[in-house]
Amino acid sequence: MIKVAINGYGTIGKRVADAVAKQPDMEVVGVSKTSVSAEAFVAKKRGYPLYIADIGKKAAFEKAGLDVAGDVEAMLKAADIVVDATPGGVGEKNRPVYERLGKKAIYQGGEEHEVAGFSFNAHVNYKEAEGHQFARIVSCNSTGLVRIISAMDQAFGVDRVRAVMVRRASDPGDVKRGPVDATVLNPATIPSHHGPDVNTVLPEVNIVTLAMIVPTTFMHMHAIQMDLKKETTREEVLKVFENHSRIGLVRKATGIKSNAQLREYAQDLGRPRADVWENGIFEESVSVLGGKEFYCFQAIHQEADVIPENIDCIRALMGTVKDPEESIRMTNKALGFVAIR
Ligand code: NAD
Repeated sequence: MIKVAINGYGTIGKRVADAVAKQPDMEVVGVSKTSVSAEAFVAKKRGYPLYIADIGKKAAFEKAGLDVAGDVEAMLKAADIVVDATPGGVGEKNRPVYERLGKKAIYQGGEEHEVAGFSFNAHVNYKEAEGHQFARIVSCNSTGLVRIISAMDQAFGVDRVRAVMVRRASDPGDVKRGPVDATVLNPATIPSHHGPDVNTVLPEVNIVTLAMIVPTTFMHMHAIQMDLKKETTREEVLKVFENHSRIGLVRKATGIKSNAQLREYAQDLGRPRADVWENGIFEESVSVLGGKEFYCFQAIHQEADVIPENIDCIRALMGTVKDPEESIRMTNKALGFVAIR
């Protein structure tokens, strides 16, 4: 069993912990919090040993009825590998501790590529991970872009990508953030950081991205255009998506035309936390003009799509499963994840 610590038990960390707990070859040795919160009570309910960043706060946790197993360093010592899901920038500060203790670590998209020096996606560079001490899972938007671009590139060759990201304002529980009633250019300059982030996994791809934030919490929405090298048809493209275990197709017959309806659908299908782990490509939008010009809309669930990638990255860094497809199958099976068709 691979012993996994989750440093930062928030939106991403709590999902990674549950996904790790479901895998046949992994166990959660601990999760960490900075302060008493609802998530700490969830960790207790799940039976995850709770560690805290500042051991001086132990009394406050115990007063709330939460047992503290120790400080973060004690958690790291008990682990083979740590998934760092602390807020962006904190992971970089944690790196010297991981180095000192000789622990492998997986960072999230809020950290710069250079913090890990290796950015990961299970379908693209799983085999390159072995031997690295650190890896980084690219952000939710970049994960969604990398999946669709690499699938299209393998099938038809991709000459260039142009994509517009309409981003959710905050996660549903993140009450401190806005906007309440605005469309914010984020950034106003072009390109947005997403294109360069995709290039950390797919360095050869010619990509320019534009991004804005709108007042929704459910999902991001991407409008994507790719120029392909080989001529193809809409039917062939749909087949590529149908054969990809982390690309979902939102069928016309469902009548779903929004992020809100897609989350409701996932909830009704019984997905934990209504998580949409796959890219949600709208079947109706899939278009090929003149043989080489591809267009589509895809919805990306910011809290969820990176979770299976974290799990595969654990096996890739540990070197326990050599074949990416085998790891992807194991992860998806343990999660009960079959992409929406
Ligand atoms: P979050 O704020 O929901 O959770 C972060 C957790 O880390 C909190 O529980 C906090 O208590 C804890 N924490 C803070 N400082 C800590 C420290 N020094 N030691 C230990 N724990 C600490 O954040 P999040 O949304 O889960 O984001 C985590 C990372 O994942 C970021 O890099 C973010 O960019 C990335 N990410 C987030 C999303 C998303 O939509 N939420 C999607 C993809 C990637």
